[in-house]
Amino acid sequence: MKNYFVDVISDGICMGNAVVLNLEQKNSTIRKSVAEEKNKLGNAIMNSLDELNSISKNKNEEFIEVHKMLLTDAALKDELFKEIEYNGKSAYEATVCVFDRYIKGFKESKSSYLKERYLDFLDIKERVLRNIFDNKIDYSNFHNVILVVEELLPSLLVDFKDVKGVICKNGGFTSHAGILCRSLDIPCVVLKDYDIHTNDEIIIDTRRQIVDVNPSLDVINHYQEILGKIKAENFINSPHPGYRFMCNITDNSELDKCLEYGFDGVGLYRTEWIFMNSDRPLSEEEQYNIYLEAVTKMNKLPICFRTFDVGDDKQLEYLHVDSKGVRNYMNNPTLFESQIKALLRANIYGNMKIMFPMIETKEQFYFLRNWVYRLKEEMANDKQIEIGMMLETKMALDNIGDFGNVDFISLGTNDLTKEVYNISRSDNISYKEYLDDLLKRLKPVVDFCKQMDISLSVCGELASIREATKGLMNIGINNFSVSAPNIKTLYLAFNDKLKEEKC
Ligand code: PEP
Ligand code: MG
Repeated sequence: MKNYFVDVISDGICMGNAVVLNLEQKNSTIRKSVAEEKNKLGNAIMNSLDELNSISKNKNEEFIEVHKMLLTDAALKDELFKEIEYNGKSAYEATVCVFDRYIKGFKESKSSYLKERYLDFLDIKERVLRNIFDNKIDYSNFHNVILVVEELLPSLLVDFKDVKGVICKNGGFTSHAGILCRSLDIPCVVLKDYDIHTNDEIIIDTRRQIVDVNPSLDVINHYQEILGKIKAENFINSPHPGYRFMCNITDNSELDKCLEYGFDGVGLYRTEWIFMNSDRPLSEEEQYNIYLEAVTKMNKLPICFRTFDVGDDKQLEYLHVDSKGVRNYMNNPTLFESQIKALLRANIYGNMKIMFPMIETKEQFYFLRNWVYRLKEEMANDKQIEIGMMLETKMALDNIGDFGNVDFISLGTNDLTKEVYNISRSDNISYKEYLDDLLKRLKPVVDFCKQMDISLSVCGELASIREATKGLMNIGINNFSVSAPNIKTLYLAFNDKLKEEKC
């Protein structure tokens, strides 16, 4: 546990794991023939340009254009080649020598603006050298990264996809990377001396001007809380016309946040957690009290209860389950009935929705819905209630046309992606690997729901990823449900989409 006092380039609070980058390249003075060295350098420049072109397809950062201009500058190329041809240097040495000359010139400039521009040359130098050595690292799978670097180079922010914060030894307020950090809302600080290693847990808090290295669990919990609040508070009650932002919860204690953060209702109440928190089956009365408290607290805002979804990693001590989701209801009718009755009784405002998990066939869905209707009739309950399903099995996805008569559909992307792409939920697979394909598969579902006037939402974790949510919005989904702290993602994706539409 260590604390450092820092200078601030970009404000904010973040938490993540250190990735310490040493920009020193291994020295290489072994020189082959002039032609070979020129060829090596020429190829490295071409590959660097290719990299920048592929980045600029996705990102529109101004510095990329500047770097491309410099790399295609004939005079600069000439200088580099002359070092090989007339001064006996290798491709590596020529690159270091020419770029360092420019870097020195800019660093010595009187103008603070020009002073900072040396970073452009440093950045290109590093990129060309990486290409000379062909030792590029694929950073795209690193998550929650706190970059720890000598110099803050804009390209690093682009190479890493999930940078939460930056600690650099040298950096300036007006540097491209500083500007980029501020526009990306990434905290960035300057720290001259430190003892930080890759994978260390890091907290950056620019309000207190500190960096915490491997903080205690209490401190981590405290910051998790703060981060949740900050994320949400910035966006509380911002208008989002045409969209519904709902909250995922597992028990009533989360309802305060749901209301505080300005959600439009509860989109997914994972009721199995109520059962899992008990070592015996809860009675109808006990359940009723819990559901009633939730309904009352939400004060007429819509609230969607998912009937208990046990199985796999969610097991009940007192219940034998050998499959996941709906099949358990046929095997445990008493528990299912107690839940449905308790829910129906708690539906005092008629704003309740019930949905069934892991539905595979229309027969399953209609069987369960009729079961609910029968109980409702027996109870002489006349309150309005919507009954829908989670779309989270491949079989249901492939047969979406069978479900034209459901009240609503909620996409469970966690299980759906697991089934469609045959991956385990604990695998560390990036959503990027399947997002485009998934969006293609989901578009017919969106069209079908529009055609049949069925409300469609997403309640899986994909809606907590800005880029994925924007993709889902782009195919026409406008109803999302996420855990409370992730409300920020929804607003960010919503703003991205608005910006795109204005362009
Ligand atoms: C899902 O599968 O996407 C989902 C929301 O359900 P759970 O994560 O509870 O299985
Ligand atoms: Mg699921």
